[in-house]
Amino acid sequence: MKLELKNSLSVKLLRVVLLSALVVGVVLSCAQIVYDAYKTRQAVATDAERILDMFRDPSTQAVYSLDREMGMQVIEGLFQDKAVRMASIGHPNETLLAEKTRDLKHSPTRWLTDPILGKERSFTTQLVGRSPYSEYYGDLRITLDTATYGEGFLVNSMIIFISGVLRALAMGLVLYLVYHWLLTKPLSRIIEHLTSINPDRPSEHQLPLLKGHEKNELGLWVSTANQLLASIERNTHLRHEAESSLLRMAQYDFLTGLPNRQQLQQQLDKILIDAGRVQHRVAVLCVGLDDFKGINEQFSYQAGDQLLLALADRLRGHSGRLGALARLGGDQFALVQADIEQPYEAAELAQNILDDLEAPFAVDQQEIRLRATIGITLFPEDGDSTEKLLQKAEQTMTLAKTRSRNRYQFYIASVDSEMRRRRELEKDLREALVRNQFHLVYQPQISYRDQRVVGVEALIRWIHPEHGFVPPDQFIPLAEQNGTIIAIGEWVLDQACKQLREWHDQGFSDLRMAVNLSTVQLHHAELPRVVNNLLQIYRLPPRSLELEVTETGLMEDISTAAQHLLSLRRSGALIAIDDFGTGYSSLSYLKSLPLDKIKIDKSFVQDLIDDDDDATIVRAIIQLGKSLGMQVIAEGVETTEQEAYIISEGCHEGQGYFYSKPLPARELLSYLKQAQRTHVGIL
Ligand code: C2E
Ligand code: CA
Ligand code: CA
Repeated sequence: MKLELKNSLSVKLLRVVLLSALVVGVVLSCAQIVYDAYKTRQAVATDAERILDMFRDPSTQAVYSLDREMGMQVIEGLFQDKAVRMASIGHPNETLLAEKTRDLKHSPTRWLTDPILGKERSFTTQLVGRSPYSEYYGDLRITLDTATYGEGFLVNSMIIFISGVLRALAMGLVLYLVYHWLLTKPLSRIIEHLTSINPDRPSEHQLPLLKGHEKNELGLWVSTANQLLASIERNTHLRHEAESSLLRMAQYDFLTGLPNRQQLQQQLDKILIDAGRVQHRVAVLCVGLDDFKGINEQFSYQAGDQLLLALADRLRGHSGRLGALARLGGDQFALVQADIEQPYEAAELAQNILDDLEAPFAVDQQEIRLRATIGITLFPEDGDSTEKLLQKAEQTMTLAKTRSRNRYQFYIASVDSEMRRRRELEKDLREALVRNQFHLVYQPQISYRDQRVVGVEALIRWIHPEHGFVPPDQFIPLAEQNGTIIAIGEWVLDQACKQLREWHDQGFSDLRMAVNLSTVQLHHAELPRVVNNLLQIYRLPPRSLELEVTETGLMEDISTAAQHLLSLRRSGALIAIDDFGTGYSSLSYLKSLPLDKIKIDKSFVQDLIDDDDDATIVRAIIQLGKSLGMQVIAEGVETTEQEAYIISEGCHEGQGYFYSKPLPARELLSYLKQAQRTHVGIL
């Protein structure tokens, strides 16, 4: 705010001081003038006295000797004085001896001075003889004209008045200057400093102690104001701290210090906006601990808290690749991978996290092992908003957890409806085995070199009492989830081996049996022993049983998988990698696994005629398998063209509707017999 000059304190003061000095000057001057008037009047009397004194003796002489001439001379003498207007000598009872009068002096200021001094004033002195003859002879009388006195008086008054007023004004001015110097100027400087104060950091600039004013009211004012500013700043600081700690509490998880769900949502909102702009993918990973409740119960809640803290630290280890990391609450964490190009980047991160959890956590001098399940959603395919992505990731995680733990799972759009049907089927699945609702069908596998059936793949069938045929794609995951896959898998192995024994006995002694293994089975410690037992019980030659494991199942846990595969192989079985090309396996992984066969996924085979990319993939897989010294089989062969292509690329074996649908055991036997008869008739 700018100070207007007319509002300035010192100008106001100047006005007041000048006015009052003027009033005082005028009043004082007037008093002095009144006094001067009195003095002038006295001066008139004193003058008259002096004149009378001077002329008393000659007048007495003249009246004593009754000498008129002398009397007139005295009178003339008196008239030398300009103020004398009338003079007379004589006895009051006789005619005057001598007398003279002149006109009143003409003066322009008379009108002013006459009322004060009177027009004229008369004075008388008695003329008395010398002692011892103290006889009274008469009076000497004079009248003085006051005009001259008046003029003098007026000049004096003017001087008094003007000098009085000037003196007062000068005093006022001096007062103003002193006031300005003492107060207005320092005040203006303080105001200047006050306006430059930063309201957020009020005590950053202290108000300066003005020189010479350190101990007076101004100095006090400045130091008090400085104290006030400092305490304002202290308070503001405290308030800011309180506010930010409130904010932290509202946005961060108390235990781990990680952002909470609310904060994550804000961060994810931003990430999604950016990703949408540059058209990148974003992955949201929801990590849920497997059986954290059990850990809490087995150890203590404090141990549980320590564990969560340690887990948060391990997750932080991945923050270089993360756009956000948060604790959703309980044993659930969320990780956001911003700007990824391919979903496999999320899969790799998820696998890294799972691997990272392998190392035990040391809590309370105990080693605790944690396992987690991760649900993954992708932006933009699984949802375009923070809420949807988070919700679906959590849902996927929960679902994946019930299926099988210590794994990651991507969200699929049909997850919702799948869940409901699953629950129902899951119930029935538990009974299916004892109620004999399963049977196996077999699909032939043809060797292109030998031009004959060299093996069959056993495929399970479930005939549900109500729903009828339930595809294995639907119930196998359920069985994996509720654990029944172990029993079912053993039953399949047993059935398949038993059947193979039969066929061997019926003359197809080099027939091979391929059996699908679920990942859960693969990681079941008993499996190698079970396989070994079956091979012995049914007296099956080694390498007549082939176990198919899926690529994704292997990649979840490479090192354990490699171990288990090795022990399976030692028991005499062959290992094939199923659905090859659909997962994210890398060459180096593939090399480190003990594999005998690659099974090209049917999706590539089916489209290879129309889709150049698929044709290229099929060719590449065949080349890869050959270079690694593995057998390569194509599944899902349906047409001559497909067969021609894979044969021309050097694929060893084929399987598909082109040769036969999966058949029940008896029908497969007929098929085998017919194929044997016609030998190449199948081709
Ligand atoms: P998979 O191991 O990839 O089995 C091949 C699937 O492709 C079979 O479906 C088979 O019927 C089908 N198929 C064969 N030839 C063709 C063809 O030319 N064209 C087309 N479109 N499909 C063909 P299925 O029997 O429904 O089995 C589905 C999946 O269920 C299997 O995929 C396998 O992963 C799983 N599965 C089946 N039986 C078992 C089992 O006993 N144990 C385990 N763990 N999984 C099994
Ligand atoms: Ca298979
Ligand atoms: Ca397959």
